[in-house]
Amino acid sequence: MAHILIVEDEEKLARFVELELVHEGYEVTKCGDGREALELATNNAYDLILLDIMLPGLNGLEVLRRINNPGQEHGVNKPPVILLTARDAVMDKVSGLDAGAVDYITKPFAIEELLARVRVALKLHPVNSQDTSAGSAANAAADDKANGIYRWKGLMLDERKHRVTYDGKEITLTNREFEMLKVFLTNQDIVLTRDTLLEKVCGYDYVGETNVVDVYVRFLRTKIDEVFDVKMIETVRGVGYVIKSE
Ligand code: CA
Repeated sequence: MAHILIVEDEEKLARFVELELVHEGYEVTKCGDGREALELATNNAYDLILLDIMLPGLNGLEVLRRINNPGQEHGVNKPPVILLTARDAVMDKVSGLDAGAVDYITKPFAIEELLARVRVALKLHPVNSQDTSAGSAANAAADDKANGIYRWKGLMLDERKHRVTYDGKEITLTNREFEMLKVFLTNQDIVLTRDTLLEKVCGYDYVGETNVVDVYVRFLRTKIDEVFDVKMIETVRGVGYVIKSE
């Protein structure tokens, strides 16, 4: 569930909003001081910040600016910010939106309105770090693919260098073994039949025993599974073989 930081020095209001948000199922942290808020926002991955403007320590607009323009010592975490403003503070609203707030709500407000704006902000501005890491993992995988590098656990096959290692240790393979391993690595989680493997490794015009596939699988198991104590190529009885990514 989303983690929301409430920055509000009016304790009664902060408490009220906290109770309502917790009731809705959000995880909530609250604080009543601008400097403390900045520190919390820098060191924690919130999904949303509700930020009052008139605060002790550091005012809300300054907190907002610093969150959105972090120095190098700050993290990249930039949760969406909804400002809590006084009724007539038009300048605050304008400055706040200029400084990167996604929305503002004027005090006093109906709690239903606040909850609605919170839902909208979370939906339109998802920040969670999981997305970021998944994104960078996907990028790394794309880089690998572009460089002809394929991996399974500690195993790495480098197509360009025609090199295979496990946890950095060199594995010497023949051309056919190398080709077969590459077919497995590029088709992880797909069960490959003997015919498919034969075709991919030996070519369409291969004439000979189909058990050549089993022979190469055995060679690979001897050189990889047995040496590195893993179970890489699994037998799917009556069908063929598979490398499972997990
Ligand atoms: Ca205040």
